[in-house]
Amino acid sequence: MDFVSRYLAGYSESIHQQVRDLIDRGKLQSYLDSGYPLQHEINNDGDLRRYVLGIKNQYIKKSSPLSKVVYDSKIHVIKNALGTHTYINRVQGSKIKSKNEIHISSIFKRAPEAFLNMIAVHELAHVKEKDHNKSFYQLCRHMQPNYHQIEFDCRLYLINNEICSD
Ligand SMILES: [Zn+2]
Repeated sequence: MDFVSRYLAGYSESIHQQVRDLIDRGKLQSYLDSGYPLQHEINNDGDLRRYVLGIKNQYIKKSSPLSKVVYDSKIHVIKNALGTHTYINRVQGSKIKSKNEIHISSIFKRAPEAFLNMIAVHELAHVKEKDHNKSFYQLCRHMQPNYHQIEFDCRLYLINNEICSD
């Protein structure tokens, strides 16, 4: 099973090779441990909601409100390594109400704080911008200046989890 090409689809073959070398030399775990030593303690939906709203209020306070923020065990991380931000459109009388929900994979219930932060930032950016375009990533960097590095390292973390559970 080639976890590297599955989690790093979209990255170049030379990046894949560098990551495979890291794994072959037995260095992936220590790379992650040294960069991301701090585990978060946000392990229930109430704490997750407070955490995500805290980031929202700090950086994008005026964006539309969130109706729901939950850990979701049904999110399959290979298909969607991040979370799922869903828009539920409901017709109420003549008005259409758009409902914002953030679902974060239960995989991140126990994970380094930086990875949960990156996922939260990604999903919050979708509140304002549906597509993965330039302004989407600008929003991500506004909330987490090191967004791109952390997103890449989070993919390595998921690869490492697969190797460890083999
Ligand atoms: Zn996305």
